[in-house]
Amino acid sequence: NLPTIYIITPTYSRLVQKAELTRLTYTLKLVQCIHWIVVEDSTIKTQLVKRLLAKSNLKYTHLNVLTPPEYKLGISEKRWRKPRGVLQRNEGLRWLRSNKKLILSGSEGGVVYFADDDNTYDVQLFDEMRSTKKVSVWPVGFVGKLRYESPIVGDGRVVDWFTYSKSNRTFATDMAGFAVNADLMINSKVEFSVKSSRGMQENDFLVKLKITLNDLEPKADLCTKVLVWHTQTMEPNVKNEELLMKFGKSGSN
Ligand code: UDP
Ligand code: MN
Repeated sequence: NLPTIYIITPTYSRLVQKAELTRLTYTLKLVQCIHWIVVEDSTIKTQLVKRLLAKSNLKYTHLNVLTPPEYKLGISEKRWRKPRGVLQRNEGLRWLRSNKKLILSGSEGGVVYFADDDNTYDVQLFDEMRSTKKVSVWPVGFVGKLRYESPIVGDGRVVDWFTYSKSNRTFATDMAGFAVNADLMINSKVEFSVKSSRGMQENDFLVKLKITLNDLEPKADLCTKVLVWHTQTMEPNVKNEELLMKFGKSGSN
């Protein structure tokens, strides 16, 4: 048996949600031994997501937690900004930890990966991350206003990061650019923080895991291949819907 990959996906209601989740479902159908943890940013588990998961044939867990509409980042901060997917990823981690016995009982071990609903994943990525001993890393396409960002590898170890703005990050990777061993993840209490400034989320999380740069396992042919892209879907223009309403026409006319 293969180690199970626990894939935590935050998702929220918007026009493209069903399209995004459909695409991700079809990607995940091509991957063996996964457990998809879908966490809705909502007070309820919606029918849309319920139905989509039920007909997916995937092994899944459906959770929900609402990001409070006016989530304050910090007392000293002027700007109010809604953290995107932060509480949902933590809810997924909470579920994993409360099912610790179930998850760690298999001798094959497991891996935890945070997969946003709008990214594009090569199925090979999952083969790469499956052997993660502590934390594995790889390049991510279309982040940091570059064609890709990547760990820099020397002598088989990660020595630095290829990025425009490293700022004060030890781990200059995107959410899509790393996976954590399930034992390590579940036995620690590490969570994402709504107090992390944008762009620091991943670094703050990995720092709390108390790992070093040397612990990182470079995947994807020593980080020479891009197997995941931080694609962002354009909000569809549905302006004509309003006009149809105004003229008293129904959608089928
Ligand atoms: N997300 C969420 N609630 C929100 C906004 C985003 O649950 O209010 C989810 C979204 O579905 C995605 C992840 O959080 O899986 C990251 O959001 P997004 O892709 O919008 O962020 P970006 O790629 O722009 O950093
Ligand atoms: Mn995104």
